[in-house]
Amino acid sequence: MISFEQAQDNLHRLCQTWLATYSDVSEPLALSKSLGRYLTEDVIAALELPRSDVSAMDGYAVCTRARDGAVTSEVFVLKGESRAGEPYNGVPLAPGECVRIFTGAVVPASAGTVVIQENVERENASARILHDTAYGANIRRRGEEIAADAVIATAGQLITPNMIPLLASQGIAEVKVRTKLRVAFFATGDELKAAGDNLGEGDIYESNLASIAAVLGHYPIDLINLGVVEDTPEAIKACLAEASNNADVVISSGGVSVGDYDYVRQCVDAMGVVSDYKVAMKPGKPVCFGHIDGAENGKTLFFGLPGNAVSSFVVLTELYLPAMKYLLNRERVIPNTQLEAILETDLSRRGGRLEFQRGVLSRDEDATGRPALRVSALGSQDSHRVLGLARANCTIKIAADVEHISAGSKVTVSVFPWTDLQ
Ligand code: AMP
Ligand code: MG
Repeated sequence: MISFEQAQDNLHRLCQTWLATYSDVSEPLALSKSLGRYLTEDVIAALELPRSDVSAMDGYAVCTRARDGAVTSEVFVLKGESRAGEPYNGVPLAPGECVRIFTGAVVPASAGTVVIQENVERENASARILHDTAYGANIRRRGEEIAADAVIATAGQLITPNMIPLLASQGIAEVKVRTKLRVAFFATGDELKAAGDNLGEGDIYESNLASIAAVLGHYPIDLINLGVVEDTPEAIKACLAEASNNADVVISSGGVSVGDYDYVRQCVDAMGVVSDYKVAMKPGKPVCFGHIDGAENGKTLFFGLPGNAVSSFVVLTELYLPAMKYLLNRERVIPNTQLEAILETDLSRRGGRLEFQRGVLSRDEDATGRPALRVSALGSQDSHRVLGLARANCTIKIAADVEHISAGSKVTVSVFPWTDLQ
């Protein structure tokens, strides 16, 4: 049995080796569909921003008598208007003249300053300045924010909602992004039935396939659900072969422990390499990963999950999801956010494995009134307890050699990626 940290390292290396042999494949995608995807090439500014000198305020664009003098209490003759989408197109302003101007409108080349409307008294066709305004004030200069040909986003960057105003304002309709990762997954277990099927004695509804799809559905992954496979080596091998021909990663559920019908590991072993088997984590000791050889597209990564619903979920979110993010970003493993929190109640348990207890994390204050995070464990932690899992928003990590933690102690929690802390 290896430690969780050792398993993380081994998995990292496995992914690194795989990535080294699989080059970045890109596809063009509409900007509106590109969220959550990774750019495969730099984005170069097509336009300067702003495209011309524009007004930052509503007011009056004035042409001062002194070329670069401050605007003082004088009266300007109003010659026209410049508004967004309709610049002033009259004769150039002479000293002592001005145009009415609005935010975002082009400042006429002959005007050196914009005086905000609050500092102007309007009298028919003239504008009296009430307060001094520095020369050049209230103008956003052409190219001030983005110069032509500037790199505005770089290859490898994740496209997030806050990048959209930038990319859209450049008139970019399409970007080149990394193709989706293909993940095939299947469950083993002759007792597993689908929702709607009648349950015989000892049958249960299959839940791990739905849970894999739910966890991975947040990412740019093509999910290939291969359903439930019979508990025989032949059926499992056939499924692994199909999966590895069509996917970059194959995830299996169940059949990796030491029971008479647990064939998954031996099948992967026969078709490739099982790098690791048995990890000192709880829930989820029977964890095996490696790769399958000889697939049409070369090596396919194999991530085996235990069958128990909670074990399967915890292994997927704590061990495989960070690795999956590495396969997506091709740069680094991204573990779930790890935070320190104050434990609310005493915890006792049998040591030996790193435990991920399902917990509820919330914001609060410590004794001195400073912001603090508090966490409480959710009752029974058996590996089939889906009720506690459903109520949790994090896992509390208890080191392998720790058996007791008193209330009030600091513990490390691993936050579910979809959690917004209240
Ligand atoms: P296994 O790892 O195949 O020995 O399964 C361990 C336990 O998890 C057994 O009680 C199975 O019935 C249950 N189990 C296995 N696969 C699934 C699944 N896909 N959905 C729900 N429970 C499962
Ligand atoms: Mg089974």
